[in-house]
Amino acid sequence: MTPNVQLPPCPHCGQSLLPFTLPADGGWDGSVQFACFNDDCPYYVRGWTWMEEKFGVRSSYRHRVDPRTGAASPIAVWSSTALRDRIIEDDVVAASPDADVIPGSGPGSGGEGI
Ligand SMILES: [Zn+2]
Repeated sequence: MTPNVQLPPCPHCGQSLLPFTLPADGGWDGSVQFACFNDDCPYYVRGWTWMEEKFGVRSSYRHRVDPRTGAASPIAVWSSTALRDRIIEDDVVAASPDADVIPGSGPGSGGEGI
């Protein structure tokens, strides 16, 4: 039950976006962002082909929205699991600025070696 937080749907696949945080050491300020983590999202699926053809890299991107500005822009991902350990579980969204979110605290999900 999360009273006031309404996550917008992805315009590409219709799934609800999920909140996540970006690493502060990547030049981000660690604020909450919304992104589509649907692996079947056409935007994300198409991204693999596009990146490989254009840049020869195995990478893609997901639909992302900055909740503070409402602006949408792609966030690059290097695997289907990238950034997943940064997804914020439901109820803590916008709850309090000092919400205790521990990245990567879930059980190990197998080694997908590079
Ligand atoms: Zn989507």
